[in-house]
Amino acid sequence: MRLVPAGFRRVGPGGGPVSPAALARKRLHAVAGIGHPARFFAALRALGLAPAEHPFPDHHAYRPADLDFAECDLVLMTEKDAVKCRSFGRSDLVALRVDAEVDRASPIAWRPASVDARLLDILVCPLCKSTLVYRKAERELVCKGDRLAFPIRDGIPVMLEEDARKLDPQEEVE
Ligand code: ZN
Repeated sequence: MRLVPAGFRRVGPGGGPVSPAALARKRLHAVAGIGHPARFFAALRALGLAPAEHPFPDHHAYRPADLDFAECDLVLMTEKDAVKCRSFGRSDLVALRVDAEVDRASPIAWRPASVDARLLDILVCPLCKSTLVYRKAERELVCKGDRLAFPIRDGIPVMLEEDARKLDPQEEVE
């Protein structure tokens, strides 16, 4: 299965979009009361986020205390869980919107409206976590260190090592 993250939004009162940049350098925790919590956590990691992970049973009925973590700025969750936590009235809950789930082996892709600078703030190499170079014409995101080019297919960066193209030895990256 492939998750196609479509962006973050605040859960609860006045919930609006949260830019990926707003998650940088925050102390993040992630909860998932879904069938495959690991899938959600993997989706976050693929976006360059490293929250403390808290799996819950599928269909877990959250209580506010479930979301009280030490050293925590924001709690990330799925939309499914967000529905149950909306009424808690907390401003530190953020849901990851997922536009579609495609039945395919690859776990993760991020689909932006366009690959913009804000997105590149958070899209890092899944191997070494370093910043990627966006090659617009080639529709690729390149990690100079690993010399891998991750393809952007239908506007979706595919951040998987097995799908990445190895750069030719002479290929320069600017
Ligand atoms: Zn890398």
